[in-house]
Parts: sequence; C-alpha cells; structure tokens
Amino acid sequence: MGVAPDVGSDILKDLKKRVEEGIPSGISVSFVEFEGPELVIYTEEPKKFADNGDIIRNLAKDLRKRIVVRPDPKVLVDPEKAIEEIKRIVPEEGGINDAYFDPDTGEVLIEADKPGLVIGKYGETLREISRNIGWTPKVVRAPPLPSSMIKNIRSYLRAEKDSRKEFLRRVGQKIHREPTARDQWIRVTALGGCREVGRSSFLLSTPETRILIDCGVNVSSDNNISPYLYIPEVSPIDQIDAVVLTHAHLDHAGLVPLLFKYGYDGPIYATPPTRDLMVLLQLDYIDIASKEGSKIPYNSAMVREALKHTIVLNYGEVTDIAPDVKLTLHNAGHILGSAVAHFHIGQGMYNIAFTGDIKYERTLLFDPTVNTFPRLEALVIEATYGGNRDFQPSRSEAESKLQSTIKKTIERGGKVIIPAFAVGRSQEVMIVLENAVRKGALDPVPVYLDGMILEATAIHTAYPEYLNQNLRNLIFHKGLNPFLSDLFIQVDSVSKRQEVIQSEESCVILATSGMLNGGPVMEYLRGLCHDERNTLIFVGYQAEGTLGRRIQKGWKEIPFSREGRTETIKIRLEVVTIDGFSGHSDRNQLLNYVRRMRPQPSKILINHGEERKCLEFANTLRKKIRREVVVPKNLETVRLL
Ligand SMILES: [Zn+2]
Ligand SMILES: [Zn+2]
Repeated sequence: MGVAPDVGSDILKDLKKRVEEGIPSGISVSFVEFEGPELVIYTEEPKKFADNGDIIRNLAKDLRKRIVVRPDPKVLVDPEKAIEEIKRIVPEEGGINDAYFDPDTGEVLIEADKPGLVIGKYGETLREISRNIGWTPKVVRAPPLPSSMIKNIRSYLRAEKDSRKEFLRRVGQKIHREPTARDQWIRVTALGGCREVGRSSFLLSTPETRILIDCGVNVSSDNNISPYLYIPEVSPIDQIDAVVLTHAHLDHAGLVPLLFKYGYDGPIYATPPTRDLMVLLQLDYIDIASKEGSKIPYNSAMVREALKHTIVLNYGEVTDIAPDVKLTLHNAGHILGSAVAHFHIGQGMYNIAFTGDIKYERTLLFDPTVNTFPRLEALVIEATYGGNRDFQPSRSEAESKLQSTIKKTIERGGKVIIPAFAVGRSQEVMIVLENAVRKGALDPVPVYLDGMILEATAIHTAYPEYLNQNLRNLIFHKGLNPFLSDLFIQVDSVSKRQEVIQSEESCVILATSGMLNGGPVMEYLRGLCHDERNTLIFVGYQAEGTLGRRIQKGWKEIPFSREGRTETIKIRLEVVTIDGFSGHSDRNQLLNYVRRMRPQPSKILINHGEERKCLEFANTLRKKIRREVVVPKNLETVRLL
C-alpha cells in the first residue's frame, strides 16, 4: 500500500509538536523523522536528552513509539576531520586501528588496542572527543578475529546511506499510518517447510497486513527448492508488507534475495548476527552452486539488495512493523542470533509465536530458548526431532563419544572428517575440541577448518553478547577465547586441501557442507573414504535425500559427481553418528518447551519435520497436554481468528 508523502509529513508535524510539548523547555528539537520502526528526534543537544533518561522513556510511553535521539547532522564534524581530531586527542599508545562513523546514529565506533586510553580518567578523553567532533564515541577493543564479511557489510551500508535513509523513511510512514480495515481476522498460510525440512516459509495475514516469516531453500531437493511464492496470497510479491527472519540457515533465509528479483522492496527484520550470517551463507550458497554448475536462483547484487533492506532488532525490543502488528524477537538457542518471532496483533487482539529452530537446553554456546511471553494464543513449533524415538543422549555423553572416537582414530593413524554447517555445529565442536585438549583428555592434533567456518567463527566473536554467560566469562574475564586456540588451522587453497588429504599425519577436518551436498567436505570424503583407518563423524541433522543421509544409512558405494562427470566411490572409512550435538531440541525438550510455556497457547501448529515425525509429535501433544494441534500441509491456510 502506498502512502502519499504529504500524509506522512502531516503525521510528523503533529508528532514534532507533541514531542516539544513533552520535553522540558530549554531543549531544542531540530526535526523528527521516521526511520523504519523508530521515531527519531534530531537535536543539537543530544547530551541533554542523555542526561535525563526519563524524557525518552516518558515520550515513548506517551506516543506509543520507539524513540531514538540523535545529534542534528549540523553539529557533526566531517569524518575525515573528526578522525584527525580523535588521533590528536588520544595518546599515541592507545593504538587506534579504525573508526567507523555511522551517520544513521551519529555514533563513531573506535577500535583501539588499549580502550582505556581512549576513554581516559573518568571518561574525560571520551567527553573531549565528543565535544570536539559532535559524534558520540564508543570504544571497542580491536576484534580478536577480524571478519572481512562484517567489514564489507559495514562499508556497503555506509556507501548506501542515502538510499537507505530514504528507504527507512518510506517504511516508517507505512508502519505509522492509521489502520484502515474494519474486519478482524488472522490467517497463517504454509508456503513451505511443512511436513518436510527445508524451504521454510509462512505468510501471516490480517485485513491490514501481510508478513512473510522466513523464506528458505530446500538444498536437498533438485526440483522443489523454493517455497510456493507464486500463489495468489503472495503474488505479486510487492503486496507483502514485511519479511521476518528467525535465523540465517539456508532453509530459513536462503531465498530471501529472490524476493527482490521478484519485485519486493520492503523491509526484512532480523537480529544483527542473523543479518551478517545470512549474507555469508547466501554468498557461499551461490558460490558453491556456480562451481558445481547447478542453477543459481539469484546473484550477489540481490544479496546486497536484501542487506540494504534489512532492519536489525535485538532480542526483547518490542517493535511496530505494521499499523496492527508488533514484533519481538527472543533467543531461540539454536545458532548465533537465532530467534523465536513473537507477533502481537491488533490492540491486544491476538498473539502468535513462530519458533523457527529451537534448542531448549543450555549448550556450549547459547542459553536455552525463551518460552515465556507476555501473551500467547497460538504457537508454531518445529518438530525436526519430534518423532516417537527421537531421544538424544546428553551433551556430556555426546562429548565423550566424540573424544573417544577421535582418540581411537588417531591411535590407528587415521584422519577424522566432520561435515558441519559453517554456522552452529562447527563452533560447538571447536569448543569441545579446544576444551578436551586444554584439559588433557585429547592429544593435540591439528584441527583443519575448511569452507566458511573461520569467517562464521569471526562473526561469533564480533557478537559476544549473543553467546551464553559461561562463554562470555571465559572470553572477557579470563581472557581465554577458545576460538583463538592455535589448534585451529584454516585451509584456504586447493593445494593446502590436497596437502591435508595426502599427509600421513592424523588430524581432524571440520568442513562444509554439513549434509554432504556440496562444498569442500566432498573433496575430503573422496580423498579419504577408501582408508578404513579414517572416520567420518556426523554431528548434525542429515535430511532425507542428501548424500549424508545415504551414508548414514549404510550405503557403501556412492555415485559421486565431480566436474560434470559421475564416478563411484567406495565407503570403507568408519561412519559414526553422534546425536547429542544437535542445535535442535529432541522430543523431550520439545515437549517440555511446550509444557512449561507461559502462558499456554490454545492452538499449536507443527512444521519443520518429516511428515511422520510431525504427526507423531502432534499426537503426543494432543494426548499429553490436550491442546488443539494442527499439522498443516504446504499450501494450506489456518484461520486463527
Ligand atoms: Zn536452523
Ligand atoms: Zn531449519
């Protein structure tokens, strides 16, 4: 729905008046502006707002909007001059590496070797910087693992700042328009990922608003890779008002760039780590597809388009995303930045949460997923391991099985291949290995990382606030970052890969992809499968139809296509599956998640699992907690209200 610009500016004029009435006299407001879901107040005196925290809180309550205060661009010194000023003020030993100016927020992020020297006694130096340049300085220690992905994303967003500003204004006016519909109903349409794993996508619709939740790709299928995006409910695609992403895995975010090819021009809401990991995985996906000569649904320009349209939200921030919908993202415990998306529809009319993928157990990386909400009527929950026999061993059992399997392989002079998703299981396994070696439970052998694993790990170190308390303590208070251990060696060339395969030394190889459907792990498998001293260890979910699943089932001869030709390889290496590392909840965890949920939803929809498992989990829920449970098929619509 388009909104005439003058309607927007009328609303803004009115809001500016109300802001001025709501603040103490003596503080000036230059102008107010919508930027996506936020109302931004520009002032020449941001400090006066900051010194008096209640002003913003009261305004937010009064206007029922998220309020942000930023310095009037007039008072900001040009970045090039500003950096000279910063270097003049901070003593040389501070070691300033870089400074990122964010014109969206009026903040400058200063990366330094010794942050203390930039801050100064009682924050003296920081204040002097701020007085001289207008920007609000924030200091961070130079990141332990530099991420080129994050650097590229930041500089791209900086270069696009003008068109992004325009985009945010447009989104803001649309969100803050008056609702027009008089009817009241809510529907959920399954577009993909129901009674299957892959291509997750739902449409949540009200008379006012259409929201797409996830837009994944089915990487284990050649024919049905995409959700049903051509059906009348979502086509043409520009009638969608917002896209919300639960997490970055390809089966949830892999086809987001495709939406822009089809003409979508609206916002994508996601956590900051999801945004960065999503770009990484999408670029990797099209890179691998092009190397293998398979069809590529979109190009890197569309990945950038998606990035430009992404609005980040942290956990717990209640945000208007449409005139009748508020969104809050909560920790899902599954991978970095993964979220349960909670929607509050109408003025207290209805609440629904989509779990995406969830882990209801503390893992080495994350806290368990959230299952308390202010209100909840309906729940859409994954059931990857919802089947009657899907019990996982405990994490400590899984850890000791991993250690003993590696030990045994090393003793017989073999190599260990662990296929893993770049994001999630890789970091979990890295921490287990580092821990085992540090505590002497495992002899130190080189651990080679191939594929996007190291880059994904660098993104983890850039968002420590998204890791669990234990890990943050280890990193910040004990100065021990397990990801930086010199056990880990990056494989960054084809020749290095061959060297690892051919060498006599025992080692552990962590390589993508996690389900043996492409990626560098294929070369290791091909090179090492003939030797029975070697071991292949599965630590993650293997979807039906993937090579990983076939080998897991015991196939001994595998057709293997490489550079357009098909050969047969013989599987002689040992194959071991270790279940307890999953980022998904097992049957008990899923059941407890629902049982202990507060408040209790009256309706439950099940998705993201093989058909049999979804149906079995539905039966269990019906029997044990006596709720209305629906297992929708793709293309089905469920009316909630
Ligand atoms: Zn996932
Ligand atoms: Zn998933």
